[in-house]
Amino acid sequence: MSVRVGQAAQAPDFPKAAARLLGDSQLRHNVRHATGVIRAKRARVVDEMPDWEQLREAGLRIKQHTLRHLDTYLEQFESACVRAGGHVHWARDADEANAMIVSLIRGYGATEVIKVKTMTSDEIGLNVALEAAGIAPYETDLADLIVQLGEDRPSHIVVPALHRNKMEIRRIFLEKMKLDSLGDRPEDLTNAARRYLREKFLRVKVGISGANFAIAQTGAVCVVESEGNGRMCLSLPEALITLIGIEKIIPTFEDLEVFLQVLPRSATGERMNPYNSIWTGITPGDGPREFHIVLLDNGRTNVLADEESRDTLNCIRCGACLNACPVYRQTGGHAYGSVYAGPIGAILTPQLQSMQHSQSLPYASSLCGACYEVCPVKINIPEILIHLRGKVVERGDAPISERIAMKAAAFALHTPGRFSAAQAIARATQVPFEHAGLIRHLPGQLGGWTAVRDLVPIPKQSFRQWWSERRKASSA
Ligand code: SF4
Repeated sequence: MSVRVGQAAQAPDFPKAAARLLGDSQLRHNVRHATGVIRAKRARVVDEMPDWEQLREAGLRIKQHTLRHLDTYLEQFESACVRAGGHVHWARDADEANAMIVSLIRGYGATEVIKVKTMTSDEIGLNVALEAAGIAPYETDLADLIVQLGEDRPSHIVVPALHRNKMEIRRIFLEKMKLDSLGDRPEDLTNAARRYLREKFLRVKVGISGANFAIAQTGAVCVVESEGNGRMCLSLPEALITLIGIEKIIPTFEDLEVFLQVLPRSATGERMNPYNSIWTGITPGDGPREFHIVLLDNGRTNVLADEESRDTLNCIRCGACLNACPVYRQTGGHAYGSVYAGPIGAILTPQLQSMQHSQSLPYASSLCGACYEVCPVKINIPEILIHLRGKVVERGDAPISERIAMKAAAFALHTPGRFSAAQAIARATQVPFEHAGLIRHLPGQLGGWTAVRDLVPIPKQSFRQWWSERRKASSA
């Protein structure tokens, strides 16, 4: 098995990558601005929903139920899709999925493909595999196109080019589309992208897509998007290959009702997506003549096996947790070293890779809980982060500072005598740092804590001392 999540196995640890990116003031400005705009839009459209909490609860229950019976629903999906004229392929890992897709494209004699809405293809490194096989992939989602032409990496799961501003995008388009001139208004940029892509939509014979949901009951597949490029990519080619993780299955068509309400509101602050494409196998005379779907595991069954972190697979990739996360909003997505950035990336990437890489990611969080509050399917990300930190410690991979701190705490907490002595030492040493009842600056590595928050000093008297004095006074 070669489970792979983009280049995450080779990426530097989060603190190192973050330290470098924190020095890029333009990137930080772009990320803060873009996430601020999306958060405000999301808050407005969520506030107008009186049953938002019930919808979240329903989303959670549908996902949890599906994952408990995933084997059944996957087989049901396969039968229904095949009945409707589709071809279903099962891929255990990244290499298997890439090989299948390359062989399907070669079977159609194609040397180029148009692609849309498929983070999963970034997960398995599909573009690299296609190029190695002499097949040119063209991204057609606007943000993915910006990332591809800029030879960049995605930094957000909904808005992959969120770290770029319009002047940077203009420069990329001018250079890579070989344009003589280009305005800097958003409509100038989208018109340039339209002209560049339209010719490819009409010429290229094979399309590759991801999907937001796959419906077990009917074998239908659903893609939601805002631009319409997805619709063209799904309907114009002669053959369509869709790649999805196995967790994208939902049981019935009715279940879409919940997700099509919570997803657009959480992702882009829209009441509904402008384009909701749902197709079932093939329909003669309408859309692609051949339809293939590749169902990818790539570590997902390992995540499924862990009851404490299984909810990670509930994710519908709305990106709300990224926009809410105070860590992501400072560093942007590249610091996470994975196609999955932010809080969901911090729990998903290490688990897919069986905790063999990215062990620093579960620590890339202040555990403030903002991600949990906004998640439309109620994934308790802070709890899963703590669970994964426990796994890192079990493997002996915890940061050295944490290991020393935990050893010291274990020693001090071992007996009441040691605990009292530790309290007395801390009380004596904290005095120079106290100011107006708070500790605002600690020295050395401990300063990391007080750099962003105050510390309440240890009280002059412990509860045990106070209680014993009180008892003595009352018996005197
Ligand atoms: S974890 Fe929740 S909030 Fe984050 S992307 Fe997934 S569904 Fe959205």
